[in-house]
Amino acid sequence: MIECDLQGKVCLVTGAGKGIGKDIAIRLAHARAHVICVSRTEQSCSAVAQSIIDAGLSAEHFAVDVSSSQSVSDMCSAILSKHERVDILVNNAGITRDNLIMRMSDGDWLDVLNTNLSSSFFLIKNLVRPMIKGRWGRIINISSVVGCMGNAGQCNYSAAKAGLLGLTKSIAREVASRGITVNAIAPGFIRTSMTESLGESVVEKIKENIPLQSLGEVSDISSVVEFLCSEGARYITGQVLHVDGGMYM
Ligand code: NAD
Repeated sequence: MIECDLQGKVCLVTGAGKGIGKDIAIRLAHARAHVICVSRTEQSCSAVAQSIIDAGLSAEHFAVDVSSSQSVSDMCSAILSKHERVDILVNNAGITRDNLIMRMSDGDWLDVLNTNLSSSFFLIKNLVRPMIKGRWGRIINISSVVGCMGNAGQCNYSAAKAGLLGLTKSIAREVASRGITVNAIAPGFIRTSMTESLGESVVEKIKENIPLQSLGEVSDISSVVEFLCSEGARYITGQVLHVDGGMYM
């Protein structure tokens, strides 16, 4: 059991409408943070925020496309005028548009770069100044094992996820003296809608390359996010935590 009491902390999770982001939002709310659930569709992020409120905990939601600099800036202005600062930022929103490079369109390259990488830049840029003023903060970027190992058919996705690691390490150095840690988590294959479409035979093949021989669950990622938010992790920054059943060693 992680000792993590986030009472009084404001936390923002992107891609909180389903999958890993939803589980992170719910877990941080149970640790008593006020959780701002952000995703593209109103229906999904409002449902997650409402389920948190129905459990007697604290949340609100914003339906925003985080790949748009202007939309992120407008949302952050609204949040900062209400809460003054965000203490914990989890950049989790992500998409895939897979293809071999010869068939990959410029649009699929840019959509994946903008959603998986530029979004994190937009959010950090808008939220870091008040976080610095508060002299405490946690920034957690959700990368991927594919950002460390590469994967045929995913040059856009692996480039974006590898880019997130450089972003993480650079910003960790910029803000370390202000009590803010910046880390990345690199999940392996986790059971969500992103992996659901793979089919059983592909999943069996994937398992052959996972030393722990099974796909991960969303809770395997949200528990590491909670740990990174806790005081127990205060001396960890600029790191990549590999949560992948041993795929990348
Ligand atoms: P998912 O598809 O189940 O959920 C993604 C969430 O991101 C959704 O709520 C969606 O609305 C939101 N989102 C997508 N584009 C957005 C945008 N432009 N603006 C706002 N919100 C947007 O995905 P998941 O499997 O839960 O993955 C979450 C993160 O973990 C992603 O960054 C993904 O790349 C990463 N990841 C997942 C796996 C896996 O096996 N599932 C493995 C490694 C890394």
